[in-house]
Amino acid sequence: MGAPRSYRTQAVIIKQFKLGEADKVLTIYTPEFGKLRAVAKGACRPGSKLGGNVEPLTHSSMMLARGRNLDIVTQSQTVDVFPELKSDLWGMACGLYVLDLVDCSTVENNENRPVFELLLSALKWLGQSGDKEIVLRYFELQLLGYLGYRPELYNCGICGSPIKAVVNVFGFDQGGVLCPRCGGKETASRSLSVDALKTLRLWQDCDYATARRVVLKPQLASELEQVMQGYIRCLLQREVRSVAWLHELRRTEAC
Ligand SMILES: [Zn+2]
Repeated sequence: MGAPRSYRTQAVIIKQFKLGEADKVLTIYTPEFGKLRAVAKGACRPGSKLGGNVEPLTHSSMMLARGRNLDIVTQSQTVDVFPELKSDLWGMACGLYVLDLVDCSTVENNENRPVFELLLSALKWLGQSGDKEIVLRYFELQLLGYLGYRPELYNCGICGSPIKAVVNVFGFDQGGVLCPRCGGKETASRSLSVDALKTLRLWQDCDYATARRVVLKPQLASELEQVMQGYIRCLLQREVRSVAWLHELRRTEAC
């Protein structure tokens, strides 16, 4: 018995591009297979049943048929389009960043159910939350944990000594906190205040209901963003594209 010729799956649509006149190639994230690319035939034709159900930032229930190269989407039913998230530009940008980060940091056909659950939850939280920065940072921290890059926050990543409640350093190459003595020599690093360390430690191990209770003052928010972005940039060896859009929006719209 070979694998079944078609299968049903939940999917979050990450991105799409047009292929030829009428088709679309989708990148989707699924609970069973992780990230997948699939073809939505005829999705660009007016009146196509697939059309609107395969747009990015959509949670769908899909039927796919095995294809020789890419699998083929035969049905797609929308489960959620996250309307609250899409009601303003800032929410939209945050949602696209979350998709982009999952896309950049995962490989195809690698099951990771917690990442699917986290992605889906993050898109819902972004729609409900007043402070989307908390959602983004919490999402980044949890995602890195599920992908095997959980930052070490209790012992120095170089000498191993327990971290004290002073201003320390976050070492991007070491993926965690460094004591002031070791951290001072590292160029790929950023200073880490006691409040930032405490917040990261809390978020790493708590659920979202607890995470959202943190009151993020602008200075702490900016510090945490720089720490996480520095670490992510170092891991991916590049900038996540949509980050630039977030920065630009924040500058022009004072989000
Ligand atoms: Zn040290």
